[in-house]
This record gives sequence, structure tokens and C-alpha cells, in this order.
Amino acid sequence: MKMHQFVIIGLGRFGSSIGKELIQLGYEVLGIDRNEETVQELSKVLTHAVVADATEEEALRSLGARNFDCGVVAIGDDIQASILATILLKELGVKKVVAKAVNELHGRVLERIGVDRVIYPERDMGIRVAHQLVSPNLLDYIELSKKYTIAELAVPGCLTGKSLADVNPRGKYGCSIVAINKPKGIIIAPNAEDVLTERDVMVVIGTNESIEQFQESIGS
Ligand code: ATP
Repeated sequence: MKMHQFVIIGLGRFGSSIGKELIQLGYEVLGIDRNEETVQELSKVLTHAVVADATEEEALRSLGARNFDCGVVAIGDDIQASILATILLKELGVKKVVAKAVNELHGRVLERIGVDRVIYPERDMGIRVAHQLVSPNLLDYIELSKKYTIAELAVPGCLTGKSLADVNPRGKYGCSIVAINKPKGIIIAPNAEDVLTERDVMVVIGTNESIEQFQESIGS
């Protein structure tokens, strides 16, 4: 299901960053915050920005929160407010509710009350940065499950000019190159004859171990 309209509760750094990006992507965003100055600032950017206390059911109801496809609860420090706002969005019938958690316990409570996705921005970004620090060629990655990952790896000098048949990560390590992002465009499901060049990015899928072994072999 494609989401079109988003309501964001809490317009701090995290909430406002999500809101601004959604606007850039062409979506409609209602921002709610109890701080008047914050709302004034964001009202120039978001579709609508309103001063309200998101722990008050009537306030959310009168803003028509139930009509939104997706709600983001981006309140962190006030855990009680985060939980109440989440419950209210769920009860009002918002189809998908995503909430920020500041620690594991907060996250577990949010899961118990039925949030669709819990986000730990600082923890997750810390983990990403650590991975990128120890693997300079690793540009980004998505964990598909505890065991499997998709990683974006910059093509190092030692692979430039080589074909996928030469590199052969599937035969050697068990992971596959499912796409090559070249400056001229992306090649999906590349062939064995496709050649890697310096500014390419490989999209690799496999078990965590197989990707790690491939990364080590290319000095990443
Ligand atoms: P960030 O890290 O995103 O900058 P923060 O940690 O500085 O956030 P938080 O306490 O997480 O601050 O609050 C984020 C925003 O949520 C603030 O702008 C705050 O005014 C707003 N907020 C907090 N409680 C409520 C509430 N009950 N209703 C509406 N907005 C709220």
C-alpha cells in the first residue's frame, strides 16, 4: 500500500528531518508539536503545522489524525507522552504507526501497544557508522534478517577492469552481486561479462559472513 499522507508528532531534530524529507519526496505532512516556536518554524516547510498536545485525544481527533495513512511519533524524552500519543493514533485508526524509542525498554513498551515499527535513531546510526568506519568500502547496508544482508560496496582499485566472472563472489564466498550502480545508470541482475570500473557501486546480497569474507578479500 502506498502511503500519501503523514502525520508527525514531535518536530524536534528527528521529526522535522523526516517531515522535510517527505515534503521533498512530494508527500503531504501534518506536523504537530506543543511548542509554538517550533511549529512556527516548520509551518513554512510542512503542508500544515499545528500547536497541540498529542496526549489529548480530542486534539488529535479534531485535527483529523485518523485520516492519515501513516503516523510518526517522534517524541523521545517524554516517554509517557510518546506512549500516549502512540496509543491514541492506533485507537483513532491510523493505518501504520512508527515511533522513536530512546532505549530498549521504551521500545518494548511501544511494541506491546502495537506500534508497527520502532526506530532507535541514535543506536541504529551508531551501529551504521561503526560498520562504515571499519569497512571503508561499505557505503550502506540493509539487514534483511539476522542472517542476511544487502550491502552497497564501492568498487576498490583491485577490482577495476574485472568482470563479474573474474570476481566470482558467489563461487568464492557465497554472496551475489545483484546490481551494479554505474555513473551512467544501474545494471540490475548483471551478467558474468559485465565489467566493474572505478566509480561503480556493487549491490551485494548474502549471509553476513559471506559478505564479510568478500569485503575482506577486497581489502574493505
Ligand atoms: P530530537 O532528538 O528529535 O531533537 P529531543 O530529544 O530534542 O528530540 P524530544 O523530547 O524528543 O526532544 O521532543 C521532540 C519534540 O516533541 C519537541 O519539539 C517537543 O516539543 C515535542 N513534544 C514533546 N511532547 C509533546 C506532546 N505531548 N505533544 C506534542 N509535542 C510534543
